[in-house]
Amino acid sequence: MTNETFLMIKRLADAPGACAFEEEVAAVARSYVSHLGTIEEDFLRNLYIHRKENTGDRPVVMLDAHMDEVGMMIHSIKPNGTLRFLPLGSWNKGSVAGIKVLVRNADGEYIPGIVASKPVHFQTAAEKAGGAMELDDMVIDVGAVSAQDAAQNFGIRIGEPVVPAVTTEYDGKRDIIMGKAFDDRIGCAVLLEVLRRLEGEQLPCDVVGVLSTQEELGLRSAKVTCNRVRPAAAVVLEGCPADDTFTEPYAIQTALKKGPMFRHMDKSLVCAPRFQRYVLNLARKKGLPIQESVRKGGGNNAAAVQTEGFGAPAVVAGVPVRYIHAPNCMASGFDFEATVQVVMAILRDLTPEMIAAF
Ligand SMILES: [Zn+2]
Repeated sequence: MTNETFLMIKRLADAPGACAFEEEVAAVARSYVSHLGTIEEDFLRNLYIHRKENTGDRPVVMLDAHMDEVGMMIHSIKPNGTLRFLPLGSWNKGSVAGIKVLVRNADGEYIPGIVASKPVHFQTAAEKAGGAMELDDMVIDVGAVSAQDAAQNFGIRIGEPVVPAVTTEYDGKRDIIMGKAFDDRIGCAVLLEVLRRLEGEQLPCDVVGVLSTQEELGLRSAKVTCNRVRPAAAVVLEGCPADDTFTEPYAIQTALKKGPMFRHMDKSLVCAPRFQRYVLNLARKKGLPIQESVRKGGGNNAAAVQTEGFGAPAVVAGVPVRYIHAPNCMASGFDFEATVQVVMAILRDLTPEMIAAF
C-alpha cells in the first residue's frame, strides 16, 4: 500500500462520523473525488459521485459504501457531571468499558472523555460475579465535577454524538492497519480509489458512487439512494467481520490477507446468485484472490438495493476486518488492494446484456 493510499484511509477512518453525523467524512471524501465528475448531496447527506465519463443513457452500476460508524449519543447529564448515553448502532458491548472517546460539544469541538464503569474496588460481590456489563451501566466521564460544570465549562449538551478516540496506524513491514471505523471507512476508501484509478477510462456501463449515511441504524439512507440512482446492478463495498481468530479452521470464510469476501447470504439478503457466481468466476479467471461465505448474521445496503424501487441485483465486496463494531479494528493493505482490483475487474467487464441476464 502506498503512503498516499494509507493517508486516504487514515483521513477517512479518523474523521468522526457517528450515524447521522457523517459530514466530516463526506468532506474528506469530496476532496479526493470532486474532480472526477458531478457531486451531489441529499438532505440525509448521502454523497453521489457521477463519473464524468457517464453517458446518461446506459444502465447504472452503483457502488455503495456507508460513511457512518457505530457511535453513541449523549442522553443526559447526571448531577455528578458524568454523561449517560445511548448507542448509535450495535456495539460489541464487551469492548466498550474503559475506552477513550471524543464527545462533540456545543462549540462543535470533539473533546476527550472515558467510558467509565463502576471500579472493581467499589463493586459488590454480586456485581463482580455478574459477567459482561450492559451499556446502561456505563457513563461517559469528560472530567466535569457537576452537571453545571459539564454544561458550562465543557459545553456538553444532550443529543451530541460520540465516537472512539482512535487514530489509524499502519505497520508497513507486517502490512497491518489498525484504527477505528473500518466498517465502513475501508469500503469508502475502496470506492474512492476505484473511481480515481478508472478516471478517463471508458466502461461498458455508467457508474455512480454513493457514500451513504445511517447504515448502522438499519439501512435507512440506502432506501433513498436506490430510488434516486435507480441502479441496474450494485456492488456494495463493506468492511466485513473477519472470522479467522475464533472460528474452527474448516468454517473460516473471511480471513485476513486472503482477499475480499463475497457473501452468498447474510441475515438481510441472498446476494443475486447469478451475479455472485459471475464475480467469483471472474476473479478466479483473472487470478485475483477472493473468498466466499455463507453468513448467519449481519446485514448491509445490498438488501435495500435488491428490494427498493424495481429492485436490482447486488453483491457485497467485503474487506476482511477483525473486530468491527468495537473501538479498535485491524485490516491489511493486501486485502484493500485485492478488493480494489476485483471491483475494477467487475466494472471493466460487466455489460448491460450481462446485467439483464442476472
Ligand atoms: Zn458496514
